[in-house]
Amino acid sequence: MAGDSRYFESCRQGGFSQGKCMKILLVDDARSVVMVMTARLSSYGYDVIAAPNGQEGVEVYAKEAPDLVLMDVEMPIMNGFEAANRIRAIEATQQWAWTPIIFLTSSDTVENLVTAIEAGGDDFMSKFVPEPVLNAKMKAMSRIAMLRQSLARANQKLHDLASQDGLTGLCNRRTMDLRSDQYWFESTARGDAFGLLMLDIDNFKKYNDHYGHQAGDDCLRIVAQAIDRCVGVFREQHPGSTAFAARYGGEEFAVIVPGVDVADFEALAQSVVYTVRNQNIPHERNGDWGVVTVSVGGEWAPHASGALVGMFRQADSRLYQAKQRGRNCAVTAT
Ligand code: GH3
Ligand code: MG
Ligand code: MG
Ligand code: MG
Repeated sequence: MAGDSRYFESCRQGGFSQGKCMKILLVDDARSVVMVMTARLSSYGYDVIAAPNGQEGVEVYAKEAPDLVLMDVEMPIMNGFEAANRIRAIEATQQWAWTPIIFLTSSDTVENLVTAIEAGGDDFMSKFVPEPVLNAKMKAMSRIAMLRQSLARANQKLHDLASQDGLTGLCNRRTMDLRSDQYWFESTARGDAFGLLMLDIDNFKKYNDHYGHQAGDDCLRIVAQAIDRCVGVFREQHPGSTAFAARYGGEEFAVIVPGVDVADFEALAQSVVYTVRNQNIPHERNGDWGVVTVSVGGEWAPHASGALVGMFRQADSRLYQAKQRGRNCAVTAT
């Protein structure tokens, strides 16, 4: 059938999450139902995983991320409505997650239908549904699930485009503002320490003038990656740290470091200066250094309080001091 071949073609093209055909989670305590349904669904080409009750169904759901759930209502340990509720609660913690849930029942009462939808189900089907109806329903659901997944992927892409700087791939200014405001708010509420670095490439106008704007763009990318690697190493050394780097604008970057102690903060500032210089990007017109360097200004507070803008102002004035001191250095305290 043309419909079938189109469906399986889109499966092959990676329509579903694992690039395979639809993975169905079948939750039912009746072994006979599981056997019959599994045989039928497998014959349509779907992958079937079975669970014998709601609780195990939720566990398998969390582990396997199926594309569709077929859920019995009456089951020991945890019934289908409760399990559906829990699956929806797991989805709520993940962005753009949604899995169709179809309830399998022995009786098609109006009351059952309403309860099933209220419990977070998307459809409702008799266990004894004729084979062609089951096949048709699965096709319809798989189309919706596939559309939903490509929508989620498109949303993710849009989100990345809107939050990243196009040239360097770091957080853009807007995302930096949002995230730093959030981290500052959390840090002030807890009275945590907070650190902030402002970085500026030295004599970058001369770099562009000498090597050309295209080379200037390449240089910005390499410097951004070097800064990002330093912050990555810092996060590895400080599990749970939410430190991040951003492109502040032009040839300027910022690193936000919540919850850091002063010694580690200063070490990070030094390591950024060192790492950028060690990229050994030739820069004939950068004073005596001969390679691309950055100057860094930092501000650290033992207990976050007041306005974040004051931290930025202080870091910026220290960045100016670093430039005055001859560049290729960090100034993090008066
Ligand atoms: P200083 O050491 O005092 O920071 O001097 P500088 O030359 O780096 O500072 P200035 O602010 O005079 O020049 C910054 C230059 O950065 C000017 C601008 O053309 C360049 N720039 C800003 N954004 C980009 C970009 O996206 N790509 C390229 N290639 N250059 C950029
Ligand atoms: Mg049952
Ligand atoms: Mg500048
Ligand atoms: Mg500069």
